[in-house]
Amino acid sequence: MGRILMVVVEHTSSDARLAWVERQFWIDQDVALAAAEDWLAELDPADDGALRRRLEVQRASIMTRRGDPRQGAATVQRILDWAEEHGDRTLQSRCHEVLGSIFELVGDRALALEHAVATNDLLDADESPLMRSAARLTLADALGSAGSFDESRRRYGEALRLVIDDPETGIRYTILNNLAYTEYLADNQDAALAAVENLIALSTLHDRPIGMYARDTIARVYLTAGRLDEAEATLLAAMEAKPVDYLPDSIAAALVTLIETYRRQGCLVEAQTVVDQCLALTTEHGLVRWATEVAREQAEIFAALEDYKAAFEAYRSYHAQSVALTAGENESRGSILEAMFQAAESRRESERYREMAQRDPLTELHNRRFADDHLGTLLTELREGGPPVAIAMLDVDHFKRINDDLTHAVGDQVLQVLARILADPMKHLPGGIAARLGGEEFLLVMPGVTADDAFALCEKVRAAVAGYDWSAINAGLRVTASLGVAVAPTDADTGAALLRVADVRMYVAKRDGRNRVVFQGD
Ligand code: GH3
Ligand code: MG
Ligand code: MG
Repeated sequence: MGRILMVVVEHTSSDARLAWVERQFWIDQDVALAAAEDWLAELDPADDGALRRRLEVQRASIMTRRGDPRQGAATVQRILDWAEEHGDRTLQSRCHEVLGSIFELVGDRALALEHAVATNDLLDADESPLMRSAARLTLADALGSAGSFDESRRRYGEALRLVIDDPETGIRYTILNNLAYTEYLADNQDAALAAVENLIALSTLHDRPIGMYARDTIARVYLTAGRLDEAEATLLAAMEAKPVDYLPDSIAAALVTLIETYRRQGCLVEAQTVVDQCLALTTEHGLVRWATEVAREQAEIFAALEDYKAAFEAYRSYHAQSVALTAGENESRGSILEAMFQAAESRRESERYREMAQRDPLTELHNRRFADDHLGTLLTELREGGPPVAIAMLDVDHFKRINDDLTHAVGDQVLQVLARILADPMKHLPGGIAARLGGEEFLLVMPGVTADDAFALCEKVRAAVAGYDWSAINAGLRVTASLGVAVAPTDADTGAALLRVADVRMYVAKRDGRNRVVFQGD
């Protein structure tokens, strides 16, 4: 679509390159899209971080404006979930901005506003003025659509001030256009005209052609001021506009306003010519909303010609299309929400599976795989200057007897209660976990404690097991455990070596009579 400019720019860092790519959004969206896609193609497939997602959000944002918002909404929702999980506020803000625009597009004012507010709340103060302006713009649009015109006007003002010295981007045109349209909606004729004049002056100053949406806005403001000839002059360009150069939707919008202009001028032949041209465009590009507007204008033209039968038929067609349009809009709103819900849902599902893969089903403690990973992470942190890490291996004493004298089911229950006894003190220790390694063997991981504290904690655990009132499970039951403690970096500094030391000490505890904690020797 449109021309693609090949721009060769050298970037000193990927931060600078990302800022450049995001800035292109407001300069030339073809370039912005190509730049995001080129970079995505360059990225290592294993690179699954914030950068990839920033580029994906940019791509989704542009694609959404050009086509089906459903896919875009689901993609951005998924990225938003990731950003929330990883505490990436900038990425969250970008996602909310795109979602705000999508809901604005499909007419869901409440959600548009919610996302627009979040966009601004999450924005860092050191973001570029352009990005801050873009966030204000989204909020101003949403407030205007919701009918809060004063609030909206204030945000447009802020957005404009942030980019007042930035002639390279097109954002000032968008701000002035949207401000003018909001003032038009608010019936503020003078303010609307002032914004329109600023818009025209800006484009004259920078010798920049006025886009079709802006022409439509300008003409609408002229129409309400009764300046029909100026409205006509502004819109004539739409008759020549090619859908490869402008969004077909924007051409259709301008043509519909031109029809109304001609009709009000009494130029019904010209109005009919534009109706025919606009219908061809809406049919070719499936622009249902504008086809409906054209049907209404057609009815008005027939009425002005006093052909009331044709006017009635045209009006009936308008009414039918209008009802279908509202239903269609509701449906697309619904399907966007559904797509977003499914994206969020599938993340919850995969989180649940991931969680399940890390837990032991009988006791719901962490499993061996998780414990190994967690210990590995803590030991890496230790090598990088982090706190020491203590571990304890725990094995239930004479557990076979419990199984044999009572039942396997009772044995299971003992393991479940034991798990709670072990997990409890770990909750109070940041990064501390209790895991079931298998059978009746458990592991405690205790980061940031000294050898003495680790021993004291394990003594408490041992006493808690031995002192527990097991009579609820079965009368006469006695349960004790033996523990072996090891501390990194004193005893060892790798996970496997540390576990070996703790295991040897646990067997020393068994040999020395069980129901005890051993924390030194080998
Ligand atoms: P020791 O004091 O030397 O540790 O004696 P022990 O009887 O505990 O000896 P050992 O560790 O060899 O026995 C472990 C027993 O735990 C063997 C097995 O029947 C039982 N066991 C392993 N997993 C489970 C389980 O999930 N549920 C139940 N009820 N028993 C299990
Ligand atoms: Mg054992
Ligand atoms: Mg045992």
